[in-house]
Amino acid sequence: MAYTNIAYVLAAVCFILGIKRLSSPKTARSGNTIASVGMLIAIVATLVSFELLDFRTIAIGMIIGAMIGAFFATKVEMTQMPQMVAIFNGFGGGASALVAAAEYFNPANPSLFNSSTIAISVFVGTLTFTGSFIAFGKLQGFVSGKPIVFPGQKPLNALIAIGLVVLGVYTVLYGDSDPYFYGLVILSALIGVTLTIPIGGADMPVVISLLNSYSGVAAAATGFVLLNNGLIIAGALVGASGLILTNIMCKGMNRSLANVIFGAVGLEQVTPGSGEGKQISVKSASTEEAAMILDAAEKIIVVPGYGLAVAQAQYAVREVADFLEEQGKKVLYAIHPVAGRMPGHMNVLLAEANVPYEQLKDLDAINPEFEDCDVAIVLGANDVVNPAARHDSSSPIYGMPILDVDKSKTVLVNKRTMNPGFAGIQNELFGFDNTLMVFGDAKAMLTDLHKDLKNL
Ligand code: NDP
Repeated sequence: MAYTNIAYVLAAVCFILGIKRLSSPKTARSGNTIASVGMLIAIVATLVSFELLDFRTIAIGMIIGAMIGAFFATKVEMTQMPQMVAIFNGFGGGASALVAAAEYFNPANPSLFNSSTIAISVFVGTLTFTGSFIAFGKLQGFVSGKPIVFPGQKPLNALIAIGLVVLGVYTVLYGDSDPYFYGLVILSALIGVTLTIPIGGADMPVVISLLNSYSGVAAAATGFVLLNNGLIIAGALVGASGLILTNIMCKGMNRSLANVIFGAVGLEQVTPGSGEGKQISVKSASTEEAAMILDAAEKIIVVPGYGLAVAQAQYAVREVADFLEEQGKKVLYAIHPVAGRMPGHMNVLLAEANVPYEQLKDLDAINPEFEDCDVAIVLGANDVVNPAARHDSSSPIYGMPILDVDKSKTVLVNKRTMNPGFAGIQNELFGFDNTLMVFGDAKAMLTDLHKDLKNL
């Protein structure tokens, strides 16, 4: 046991070093490797110290798991990564709940403490499982991205919450009474759904990072059930870092956590003025015209969004930016904290194309730069540049800090159609006097733009 705990401490050191190195794209890859080595140490230590485990069952589980993992890792597109992260969170929560449930039916060390941790683990793990699958459905488009609200939703949630407390207490006090335990599982699954469906549009980043944090809390609780220090440490690290990420996302959206989770309830009344369905008249330009405008500019800010990831245009944008810099122009990239579909999406995407990290500016650093910017070029971004967030109190994104691209002398917006972004609302920016739309797939458009720039 002493060796096991030493191995867990070693694993924990690897996890912490790994997380530390994830804070910069330069060191992130090695951070990932160090954390993976930590996980390997923890797994081996656990397998070796519990001799009663049947290695054949473990091997079968590992082979099946590895095959499913490898299948998805090769099949899933980069743009579907957020959905995959949502599913992984869900499976993490589900696994913790299953392990705790197994302990409920076959307790190794029955005590009040043990049954309390089982109840917590089953509750958080099951909630994370169903909540994550709703988040997956919203990101994949199986479930409406808009808040799903119905009359009596708040009282229903309150009733479920009361039921959970009652069943939780009964499960803890009468450890061998299965109906209470099953009731706890069912209500936990239900509240995962009812808490996630009313959250819509732009608030999804907060939900995803929160569910990530929950999966850590569930794992840590299961660690207490099994009295396994490795699991407690790993779960606590995931729970804490997920909470920090949730806080960063809340700041990015200018929302309190309570507002995100409970704010959408009763939102049915809010529709007029949200911009949905409004006709906006726009001016469009060809890539030749865009090239001429960029040629005359001195300071250019690139604003990437989800569409850039869809088009896989990260290399194409780097080539255009490099060309413009060779012409003596200043090029910066504006990174909105919730651009794309997962936290850090744009950083990861641009790092893949080796865009210099110093050129990436976050929201606070870049917004003052738009005032004296000649051209802001918006590539597949929509919600994060929607000025309605500043003044339209009926808009679902009202209050979210946006990138002030409209303050630039000229705004070039690239997207394929006039369809809205994730929040499902039109963007008045597209009709502004200083905005020109350059329609088309981002990669094809940037490739043409590059050619046209070279031909000038
Ligand atoms: P949006 O979803 O607002 O807009 C993306 C735009 O890209 C669309 O208007 C789409 O228009 C365009 N587009 C799609 N494919 C292409 C393509 N191949 N070439 C060019 N354009 C394309 O993206 P933003 O990044 O501005 O905002 C992110 C949104 O997602 C926010 O609402 C955020 O809250 C939400 N979100 C963010 C998460 C995160 O963690 N970052 C997680 C979950 C949600 P068209 O179809 O006309 O081309």
